[in-house]
Amino acid sequence: MKVIFLGTNGWYDTKTGNTICILVQTGKGHIVFDAGNGIYKLDRYIKDNKPIYIFLSHFHLDHIAGLHILAKFRFSQGITIMVPSLKSPLLKKIINYPYSIPFKKLKIPVKVKEFCPNSLPFDIKSFKLRHSTFVHGYRLTSKGRTVAYAADTGICPNLYRLAENADLLIAECAYRPGQQANSWPHLNPESAARVAKKANAKKLALIHFDAYYYPNLKKRILAENCAKKIFFNTISTKDEMMLRV
Ligand SMILES: [Zn+2]
Ligand SMILES: [Zn+2]
Repeated sequence: MKVIFLGTNGWYDTKTGNTICILVQTGKGHIVFDAGNGIYKLDRYIKDNKPIYIFLSHFHLDHIAGLHILAKFRFSQGITIMVPSLKSPLLKKIINYPYSIPFKKLKIPVKVKEFCPNSLPFDIKSFKLRHSTFVHGYRLTSKGRTVAYAADTGICPNLYRLAENADLLIAECAYRPGQQANSWPHLNPESAARVAKKANAKKLALIHFDAYYYPNLKKRILAENCAKKIFFNTISTKDEMMLRV
């Protein structure tokens, strides 16, 4: 699998990065985790007509704001958007007049479906995580390799299940080293590293750096170094970084 980080910020865009969007390419198609503003780069990397699926973790705006950018794409195979169960009417309300062009008016077919693992051409599972609202993380396995995406979350039992033995754990890192807040749960570099270690993940990629707490890449490297003390095989991501899993 090829993993391309299209947007690595949390909250808002800065010159350091766009809001969260991750493209994972497998032999069977293109999987996009979350639709922050980084999604505008999707057509730099998708040049074939294999299926495209967007998996949304939750509806905080930094994870869905890029959906209004879908109007620029001309992917003939269309796009299927998977949302956590029973939430699709909510999304259709937001991506609609007067805020945006509704999906059915786009030049390519865009479908919104509720997540159902058995209906998909990929081996993908969802895990309910802990945040200020409902949120799902996703675990994708292809040819015996596993990528786990831990979207906005605090520590919870499902986070360890999601990450268990993953070849790559992509974990949010909104908070700075040492920072915590119970009202709006997020990970900091140490807590992400502890999860990777305890869950026996092979590699940890930190993402979703809060734009306010991480104004530049130097701060991300400090977070990486902090996480490395707990789990050595950690990297901090930046936009358009690519990894092979
Ligand atoms: Zn977020
Ligand atoms: Zn959130």
